[in-house]
Amino acid sequence: MPQINVIKGDITKIKVDAIVNAANTTLMGGGGVDGAIHRAAGPALYGACEKFHGCPTGEARITGGFNLPAKFIIHTPGPIWHGGDNGEDQLLANSYHNSLLLADKHLCRTVAFPSISTGVYAFPLERAAKIAIKTIKDFLPTANYVYQVTVVCFDDKTFTAYHSQPY
Ligand code: ADP
Repeated sequence: MPQINVIKGDITKIKVDAIVNAANTTLMGGGGVDGAIHRAAGPALYGACEKFHGCPTGEARITGGFNLPAKFIIHTPGPIWHGGDNGEDQLLANSYHNSLLLADKHLCRTVAFPSISTGVYAFPLERAAKIAIKTIKDFLPTANYVYQVTVVCFDDKTFTAYHSQPY
């Protein structure tokens, strides 16, 4: 049976086939989890990201994991919250869905996500958690390889929000 786990932790330390980065559309690094991933992966990650010339919101791109324990990093820019009437829900679902599709295409069995868009991008946490869990849950029965998805929450309130969802 495929499974979803919700844990508290630092995604840069997780040994899975692919971790997902809550990137921005430049893919050239930023603050929050993006900065942490770039610092931990090392400077070669910038070179790998540069080649994409950016990425639209809700899409995803894949690189190696460099100095991380994860084999791959999947970079997806989540939506910036602009009040909720600008397609934010669908764009957030797209980020999860497209990241999972790319992981599956690269034969990944285990994938870890941070809480995309709920930091600097200010997407309301409960609403984001509901979309994230639903999108992951709907994807799993369609996957060829991905069977375990872990949401790695950096703080208690994020952990509580995801842990409260039916997964
Ligand atoms: P966004 O710009 O998509 O909102 P942020 O990086 O600002 O992205 O925040 C997304 C989430 O990632 C927040 O819950 C933040 O606390 C969390 N976060 C920050 N660093 C890490 C880390 N090392 N591991 C996992 N989650 C992290």
